[in-house]
Amino acid sequence: MQRPIYLDCHSTTPLDERVLAAMLPYFREQFGNPASTSHIYGWEAESAVKLARESIAAAIHAIPEEIIFTSSATEANNLAIKGVAEAYFEKGKHIVTLQTEHNAVLDPCAYLQSLGFDLTYLPVQSDGLLDLAELEKAIRPDTVLVSAIAANNEIGVLQPLAEIGAICRSNQVLFHTDAAQAIGKIPLNVEAMQIDLMSLTAHKVYGPKGIGALYVRRRNPRVQLAPQMHGGGHERGIRSGTLYPPQIVGFAQAVSIALADRLEENARILQLRQRLWQQLSSLDGIMLNGHEHQRLAGNLNISVAGVDGQALILGLQPVIAVSSGSACTSSKNTPSHVLKALGRSNDLAYASIRFGIGRFNTEAEIDRAAKHSIDTIDSLRQARSQLGLSSIDSKQI
Ligand SMILES: *Cc1c(COP(=O)(O)O)cnc(C)c1O
Repeated sequence: MQRPIYLDCHSTTPLDERVLAAMLPYFREQFGNPASTSHIYGWEAESAVKLARESIAAAIHAIPEEIIFTSSATEANNLAIKGVAEAYFEKGKHIVTLQTEHNAVLDPCAYLQSLGFDLTYLPVQSDGLLDLAELEKAIRPDTVLVSAIAANNEIGVLQPLAEIGAICRSNQVLFHTDAAQAIGKIPLNVEAMQIDLMSLTAHKVYGPKGIGALYVRRRNPRVQLAPQMHGGGHERGIRSGTLYPPQIVGFAQAVSIALADRLEENARILQLRQRLWQQLSSLDGIMLNGHEHQRLAGNLNISVAGVDGQALILGLQPVIAVSSGSACTSSKNTPSHVLKALGRSNDLAYASIRFGIGRFNTEAEIDRAAKHSIDTIDSLRQARSQLGLSSIDSKQI
């Protein structure tokens, strides 16, 4: 049986062969522990980690000492948010974030709230963008951190990082951004954007799963961080645990490939997205979720009026691998909090499709995905109208 077309690149991406090739020696002969200082096995591993750290730092205009390797962006977010909350406890207990964050930000925030911290969850506009005036208003003397997602994992919307950074800096509040979806896809510059902490992950950019990093600013200002993992004092004592050279090398390789090919790849992927949208928007009752242009090239998120959300995903399943909302929340039977924040009804939030187009997708795949989506939507609507249910309820929209 033919496997479905993979169009779920926001949940993960296939490993690039070039990344795998760079990783393999570190599983085999160069298996040393980078913390072993007394022999060549350790030195080889340490030198590979050093090069990788330099290249990831350069990709975001940071210095190598500012990169802390973690197991994931989830861990990086936890370290950033809980680590700042704990370290700046005396200054204040107020944190500002967005309603459309990934759960890896929302959940540590909710945890802090349970400990007595004060959280503000800013709404977004109907296109998914933050209103900067709302941010200005939310910042208080006891605010210690603003956490704002760089590129949304459901709707691909790109927040204005430089503008947010400028507001945070002028109010002397630290700025963290979850850039799990952004690294390698949009320019990221921690200096120009005045970012103090940034979470990264490899597996959304054709690298391996199980490796991420937190950028932590070392000067102007020097960010204080309380470690969340105590142990052997790795990563300047901020994140203990033996480093994992194959994953770290793969992460750096994935980022450098993405940066080298970024403009060309984005143009190609954008063209595929437009091709998909052109076909899908020929149907009635299809709504685009998120800003039309200020979004990741590979993201298309639509709501479909007049169909049942679960039936829609089931109907698509045999031919295309997509998801409704984020993979991390699709096990919960609640409508996407991101689509709800845009003001979508429950029905439209359920009946949504997130297409994540990536490096290895082709025009033929896009055409097949479009045709199958249209056929599925048509037949679900026909079935509903035979049951006497109106196929497109204008109230829904
Ligand atoms: C995937 C993702 C995460 C989680 O990253 P992991 O490395 O899988 O833990 C966090 N934030 C965003 C925006 C994501 O897309």
